[in-house]
Amino acid sequence: MSHHFTSDERNILEHVFWEGTPSRHTLIEQTRFSKSKLNALVSNLLAEGWLEEGETRHANSGRPASEVHLSTRFGHVIGVDLWANIVHITLSDANLRFVATTSEDVDVRSGPQTVMPIITKSIKNLLQQNKLEVSQIGRVGLGVPGPVDFEGGTMVHPILMAGWEGLSFQEYFSSSLALSVVVDNDVNVMALGELWHHRTNASTLSRHENFVVVKLSAGIGAAIIAQGDIYRGTDGAAGDIAHICVDPNGQRCVCGNVGCLEMLAGAQAIVRAATEALGKLPNELDIQDVGAAALDGDIAVNEIIHRAGSAIGQVLAATVNLLNPSRIFIGGEVAKISPLLLASIRQSVYSKSLPLSTRQLRIDYTRLGERSGLYGAVALAVLSSIRTPSSS
Ligand SMILES: [Zn+2]
Repeated sequence: MSHHFTSDERNILEHVFWEGTPSRHTLIEQTRFSKSKLNALVSNLLAEGWLEEGETRHANSGRPASEVHLSTRFGHVIGVDLWANIVHITLSDANLRFVATTSEDVDVRSGPQTVMPIITKSIKNLLQQNKLEVSQIGRVGLGVPGPVDFEGGTMVHPILMAGWEGLSFQEYFSSSLALSVVVDNDVNVMALGELWHHRTNASTLSRHENFVVVKLSAGIGAAIIAQGDIYRGTDGAAGDIAHICVDPNGQRCVCGNVGCLEMLAGAQAIVRAATEALGKLPNELDIQDVGAAALDGDIAVNEIIHRAGSAIGQVLAATVNLLNPSRIFIGGEVAKISPLLLASIRQSVYSKSLPLSTRQLRIDYTRLGERSGLYGAVALAVLSSIRTPSSS
């Protein structure tokens, strides 16, 4: 199932992946190959069974079947989206059509020795329920809530996940499931899902491909899509906005600095402030309760949410001045606790950025909602099997 493609073949396969079911004409436009070169390459990929032709979009319209899509030779892939308290797992084909999805409660702070067996067991169950063997799976794509050394496939100084540092996900999946895995941080994975959704729906949207995806969750992170690809920076740390200072007189953070964004706008910080404002006992409220109090019109809680949104907007305004994206997508389980949060983020970004950098800017919720990460994890797995041969 794993194969070493030439760079021309990779170029075509990636375009096919991103477009869903492009015509040969579209592929010629995008790859800028000559018609004869493209036809020769596509014919070869069809003959080898990596591509299939026709019958997807216009099967009944009588139109000549000229589209191509990734074939079943890529096998099924597994997407795993690990959050602090829950893991979502999906079985999908290479064209991001989900076959089955499952979720399990986990606590990442309990360490990999507790969490990883839950993930592998769920994957085994999914395969069994769908009568698939491990040999029919191309690869696993995994998003984790912490900093990842993308090349090495390990986590680096994960504040929430101290016990995970140095764990080789590749070794774990090789020995427990005989599968190859590709790992990235959760927000990069979300951004990949959003990029896929954006491209495959490009007929309804103009093709702006500089955007920022923000995950508001137990932690706060951002991913940068620059010119249609994830920008990771030198060490994979790009987009780590949680510990940017928003209040020089603020409290000391676990990272050692003071007034970090996460200290004002992370889920724990919001819950802590609301607990105090509402006179509740520690651990009595969770982030959903805070959202409910806000919707009930509690003034103090709305002020806390407004402050959090303004702090997030302050960091995003700097991001906008620096990167000039056309879209900012806000996701994660804190994003929708109250419409006031998005409104406060917008207000803060527009008032603090330069007019030219916000001329085309739109700030919205992620299009795929809670499923961005799952789509992204599957996309990561498929792209990885096109780009790099398996090492398991
Ligand atoms: Zn910090």
